Amino acid sequence: MDHFDYRGGVLHAEDVNLEALAAEVGTPFYCYSAATIERHYRVFREALSALDDPLVAYAVKANPNQSVIATLAKLGAGADVVSIGEVKRALAGGVPPERIVFSGVGKTADEMAAGLDDGIYQFNVESETEVETLSAVATRLGRTAAVAFRLNPDVDAGTHAKISTGKAENKFGIPMERAGAAYALAARLPGVEAIGVAVHIGSQLTSLAPLERAFTRVGTFITELRAAGHRIERADLGGGLGVPYDPSLPEPPTPAEYGAMVARLTQGWDVRLIFEPGRLIVGNAGILVTRVVRLKTGGTTCFVIVDAAMNDLLRPSLYDAYHSIQAVRPRNDRITATVVGPVCETGDTFAEGRELDSVEEGDLLTFMTAGAYGATMASTYNSRALTPEVMVSAERWAVIRPRQSIEALLALDHPAPWLNGD
Ligand SMILES: *Cc1c(COP(=O)(O)O)cnc(C)c1O
Repeated sequence: MDHFDYRGGVLHAEDVNLEALAAEVGTPFYCYSAATIERHYRVFREALSALDDPLVAYAVKANPNQSVIATLAKLGAGADVVSIGEVKRALAGGVPPERIVFSGVGKTADEMAAGLDDGIYQFNVESETEVETLSAVATRLGRTAAVAFRLNPDVDAGTHAKISTGKAENKFGIPMERAGAAYALAARLPGVEAIGVAVHIGSQLTSLAPLERAFTRVGTFITELRAAGHRIERADLGGGLGVPYDPSLPEPPTPAEYGAMVARLTQGWDVRLIFEPGRLIVGNAGILVTRVVRLKTGGTTCFVIVDAAMNDLLRPSLYDAYHSIQAVRPRNDRITATVVGPVCETGDTFAEGRELDSVEEGDLLTFMTAGAYGATMASTYNSRALTPEVMVSAERWAVIRPRQSIEALLALDHPAPWLNGD
């Protein structure tokens, strides 16, 4: 469910006409619907209503724009962060420190110190060596870090290999067979209290079965930890629930189905549950609007060349991801074409041999479901300035990240002094 609909033959974001918006801000640009973001958060929170005081920590990396974070913070969301930059963004977006969970496999000592100084809620620790470093940093600062060890349950999430994180060969988490010893180690260390368990097996999951397997292992392990004398108060079940991208595929499980499964499995755990949804909250709350630069007939293929490229939306070239493509003003005719950007890589392809609305030079197209892992993964490859982001709320809109100017992009380089004769 989203708030991008046709009215009078033109695609709108809530009450804003996207043709008019494109004329104001230029193309390409990302456009987010505040109402969709809010709706997804509420639906997810509602699906967890059987639980006692769960913490929904939005995974900031999915879309870190401060207006997105602030929209969610106003509804009571926390934040799951993976760098000190994301800690600062979450705080700037209005998330209180006691709702911030710090995940990630490579936190540096400086990042740990900054997180401790900010008084964040929990560190999700991924190795024995990491907890030793955290203990040393916290002891030096005279603080105590609340820790949840991230477990690697060796479960195949059944998603794309590059976003699968819970198999034994992945870099994430502590193997189950060493996890008991990790809690024993933490119990001996000053400055850390291992009071939680955490798991996150991957992203864009389209079945509940792997999650259920992972959570079952977590439940058994909590019992074992308590039997060994550990005080376990929290369980972080991660994120990962998928969203529909390709209308020809079955829909992923709903938040309600997920919530019911969680309520059933975690009955009797006697912990505060934490969730880290990212994509589910913002995925289909955003689109990328682009203009057709030209049509080109190649040796064997008809190409639609658009002014957005892989540097703006990396998912198709990185994960072979599918994004639905729609005309802003459909011409009521269909074509089959390969949609590409201007970047000098064959990987700069959004869709191959796709049937889509017929277009002419200058027409506007949108890549749907681009709100998660879109703008946040953008780069300036090919010296293309960063694409702006716009947020819409009812009939209002605001540029929440302006288009980078070419001058600003060039000014990032500092010429070596000897090149100027100095
Ligand atoms: C990326 C990530 C998430 C969010 O994943 P989604 O698929 O966007 O819900 C949650 N937790 C951790 C630890 C992550 O790395």
